Amino acid sequence: MKICVIGAGASGLLAAISAKEHGADVFLLERNSKIGRKILATGNGRCNYTNVDATCDHYNHPQFIKPVFEQFGPDKTVKFFERLGIEPKIEDEGKTYPLSEQASSIVDVLAYELERLNIKVFYESYVESLDIKNHKYYIKTNNQTYVADKVIIATGGKALPKSGSDGNGYILAQSLNHDITPIYPSLVKLKLDYPYLKQMDGVKIKASAELIHNNVSLHYEFGDVLFTKYGISGPTILQISRKANELLFQKEEIYIKVSIIKNLEFKDLIERFKNFNDRPIEMALIGLVHKKLIHPLLKEANIHPFHEQVKKVDHKKLMKLIHLLLDWRFLVVGSKDYDEAQVTAGGIKTDDIDPMTLESKIHKGLYFTGEVLDIDALCGGYNLQWAWSSGYIAGKYASKT
Ligand SMILES: Cc1cc2nc3c(=O)[nH]c(=O)nc-3n(C[C@H](O)[C@H](O)[C@H](O)COP(=O)(O)OP(=O)(O)OC[C@H]3O[C@@H](n4cnc5c(N)ncnc54)[C@H](O)[C@@H]3O)c2cc1C
Repeated sequence: MKICVIGAGASGLLAAISAKEHGADVFLLERNSKIGRKILATGNGRCNYTNVDATCDHYNHPQFIKPVFEQFGPDKTVKFFERLGIEPKIEDEGKTYPLSEQASSIVDVLAYELERLNIKVFYESYVESLDIKNHKYYIKTNNQTYVADKVIIATGGKALPKSGSDGNGYILAQSLNHDITPIYPSLVKLKLDYPYLKQMDGVKIKASAELIHNNVSLHYEFGDVLFTKYGISGPTILQISRKANELLFQKEEIYIKVSIIKNLEFKDLIERFKNFNDRPIEMALIGLVHKKLIHPLLKEANIHPFHEQVKKVDHKKLMKLIHLLLDWRFLVVGSKDYDEAQVTAGGIKTDDIDPMTLESKIHKGLYFTGEVLDIDALCGGYNLQWAWSSGYIAGKYASKT
């Protein structure tokens, strides 16, 4: 059984190792001159390689994930990497890193395993097209045409295209009659339409951020929120971006609500302004909020001049200001592109894939793994977990005769 794995990223590497371990003759085609380029960028260079608490419900198609996770879930993944030499370091919310805290450790042990198992990798081999003739796959690269009994497409999505995964896998899949669901960047910074962003640029606060649609909160996060020249960023926003881009894609109007004040209620804030009745309004905000936010807040509440005494500020405007401190809303108009996204939402339609084996229902002997499929999750080690799980399972079933 000759298997060709296209793409030596997270899922392709596991697919090749698993196929070999299950007795197949397997080779990898990788367009880059090295394996696992994207892995090196993960987890801020630390590689959040799994989440020990990951369940199917963390993903967009839990039912599709289930049979794969039942066969090779986070526990088996941790054991697999332990066998390769990776000692797990479990942090908050189940996020798991190599104890060395180096993403390169993951790539190094996988490279060593490829060598140990004698798995051939053809580098700088960009797969341009795929053909099926007489039950054989013809894989045309920029260098030569390879022939295999089975093919595993592990080309990734579109996020961080400079790593090699630039969305060409969708075209390969489409050429073999597979449908692609709408795709958009996920785990990405959001662009806002707000007049005072320049003044707020660089402000980082611990706050709650919520996605608001039709005045309903759809996603809540608490943590770092960063204002930038173009919009808003930080771990809270990356998590929210998945749903935000889905709604923007549907042309819906959405807002990010930031509550910059925590631990104080409306009445506490009224009390504060009462106590500082004689102070200029901008001075009454010092010590409460980041200095760079004071003028934007006052402008938004239509309070000027900024040095007006609190007691002279129109009551309605003061109430608006207090309201803003607890509920400041920003219109979302887009997101940064795939270059700055961590994941692609959408991809190859899962209806056409057998969830037990990851084999195509359209072509026998064709398998898909990782992000090229319409599977994604939020930050936290879930996306790599899917890459490992799906790679391992596709490799296992592809090696069966
Ligand atoms: C900055 C960043 C940080 C991230 N951090 C984390 C994290 O900490 N935890 C987590 O769980 N997830 C993280 N992710 C997401 C995770 O890295 C991906 O979901 C995962 O790598 C997807 O694996 P994959 O095998 O599907 O694709 P990839 O890892 O993208 O691999 C695809 C491979 O296929 C090759 N290829 C593509 N097309 C061809 C072709 N035509 N011919 C030959 N080769 C081809 C590419 O060069 C690449 O090597 C992060 C992503 C980014 C961008």
